[in-house]
Amino acid sequence: MSNSIRCPHVLGLFLVSALAASASTQEPFATYPTLPPGTSSITVLDSKGCYVGRIPPQKRYWVSIDRIPAFLQQSLLAVEDARFYEHSGIDYRSLARAVLTDVMKGKLVQGGSTITQQLIKNKFLSSARTLDRKLKEADMALDFEKKYTKRQILEMYFNEIYFGNGAYGIVQAARLYFDKSPEELNEGECILLAGVPKNPSRYNPFGKPMDVVQRREVVLKRLRDLRLITPQHRLALQAHGAGTRPLGQAPQYLAQIRGQLLSRFGPDVIEQGGLEVIAALDLDLQKKAELALREGVRRLSPKLQGALVCLDPANGDVLAAVGDADGVQSSLNRAFVSRRQPGSAIKPMIYAAALEKGITAGSVWSDEAVAYDRGDGKVWKPKNYGNEHFGELSLHQALVHSDNIISVKVLDSVGVPAFVDFAGRMGLSLHAQNGLSLALGTDEVTLKDLAQAYTPLANGGTRAEARTILRIYDRRRQTWVENPPLTTPVLSPAAAFITTQMLKDVLRTGTAKGLNRFSQAHACAGKTGTTDNYMDAWFVGYTPNLVTGVWVGYDQPTSGGRGFTGGAIAAPIWEKFMERALASRPSGDFAKPDTVLTLSIDPATGLPAREGCPEKQDEFYIQGAEPKDPCALHEGEPVPQATSAPEAPVIAADPLS
Ligand SMILES: [Zn+2]
Repeated sequence: MSNSIRCPHVLGLFLVSALAASASTQEPFATYPTLPPGTSSITVLDSKGCYVGRIPPQKRYWVSIDRIPAFLQQSLLAVEDARFYEHSGIDYRSLARAVLTDVMKGKLVQGGSTITQQLIKNKFLSSARTLDRKLKEADMALDFEKKYTKRQILEMYFNEIYFGNGAYGIVQAARLYFDKSPEELNEGECILLAGVPKNPSRYNPFGKPMDVVQRREVVLKRLRDLRLITPQHRLALQAHGAGTRPLGQAPQYLAQIRGQLLSRFGPDVIEQGGLEVIAALDLDLQKKAELALREGVRRLSPKLQGALVCLDPANGDVLAAVGDADGVQSSLNRAFVSRRQPGSAIKPMIYAAALEKGITAGSVWSDEAVAYDRGDGKVWKPKNYGNEHFGELSLHQALVHSDNIISVKVLDSVGVPAFVDFAGRMGLSLHAQNGLSLALGTDEVTLKDLAQAYTPLANGGTRAEARTILRIYDRRRQTWVENPPLTTPVLSPAAAFITTQMLKDVLRTGTAKGLNRFSQAHACAGKTGTTDNYMDAWFVGYTPNLVTGVWVGYDQPTSGGRGFTGGAIAAPIWEKFMERALASRPSGDFAKPDTVLTLSIDPATGLPAREGCPEKQDEFYIQGAEPKDPCALHEGEPVPQATSAPEAPVIAADPLS
């Protein structure tokens, strides 16, 4: 029942126009822009077309009362304020009942608030339950009812009230829970929403199913008691409960896609919605990644966090990305955004740069302590893990055992500016001012960038930029944006191959030798990372078709305790995931380029072996960089070496040409 004014006489007409004049001076009460028609979420599908989730508009909008289904209005009023159209802002009957209950219980608990009072409280007052507040609220409610019509008050209520999970007003609520505009809500959905304002954290449609169903029954019973629905109608509504439309899976992945859309196309694209994004994600791998990370991290500690990113090195497709150990939405996106020190997981970049510079895998280095003048009068002495010294190691062995002192010396030979340039080409932006400590991974990186920097190693020297969006369809299902893979050759195929050969031994005999069994079954290479004081544990490993990085640590950098290393903590998670991921994928070995040759050398000198050398070992060389003179330390004939370059393939002449 509306309170429109019906006045048949002239005086009445005069009165109406006077009221209209006063109404037009009434301050506008819509506090947000009107919801544009046809607004919707952006739908995200994985590369195989499976539903991943959706990205809803973010801003707040206003809808007029005629866009709010009458059934929703009726249902909400039935449970919140059945005499709304009769009272003058305060419902004395229900207030009296509430006061009586309060007096009996000795405190103010019962609501007894009308829609108008709730709106006032929501808009202007704190939620403190004091008598003073109640009186002020009642006073303001009476004023409000004089100033606005019932429909205007109800409109304000629907647009202002909280519906749980961060949704303010009916527009956000309808979008969040059902991915609809208010006018599209069906009766089942209206019933669920009508039950929310009573206790938004408990009765919201994403709440515990038992609470939600119980609340729905309360609303239905109330509607029936007020004779607003027939028994049949009630049965029908019970039989066809409304289903919600969850925001979806892979929350950090969705957040990354959202960020990409924002930075590339601006916020309007998100607000208008209606697009369909085909993501590079593989939901099947995503689930395996979530499981492996949760199992691996939660068995250690309830507060520990972790992240996992899996890329296809051929095209950079981010096949899986988990940024939370429990796989839930979190304020930090540890897969794509959070930056941490990579520790030794940076070292493959230094060794690859060294190979490119002509330093060979077989070259011999001493890990004798060294001191560097930092330029500020202080001296920096890099130390090995556990303060161990190995004496002389080949470049190959130094990487396998993650020798810090040799890594710093290698970086010194490459030169910091040259290395920073090189790392930039690999996809890591590092700061030269960190100096030689860059060799120990002191510059912070994201997990995504670090994993991406390994793609050239897995992919014959070609870097593939991490890609989350493959394609975007517009509202008419026409391709709007096509994202081809971005690949750039950044490293010689020979250097990529030899770095990989060195990193294979990390899993066999090095800092991740716990993966030895796994490495027997799959061609794979990788590197551990452990930061100072055991704050971060990393493992980045790869096969020819998957690059996977794992980080484990605390959000507030805290020591994980002795033994919290990349090899002990992150590598087992990597193994669990890769075992499951590779079960459904063919895996061959890394292709050896023609520009790589193998020599039998004496590891003590790093020179081609003679018959008299006590130890002989095969090592890989970039053609042209191999040592020519045989071992100078021992006697005997140089051992015969395998033919360096492969024979030219014989191509049969085409008889027709
Ligand atoms: Zn020798």
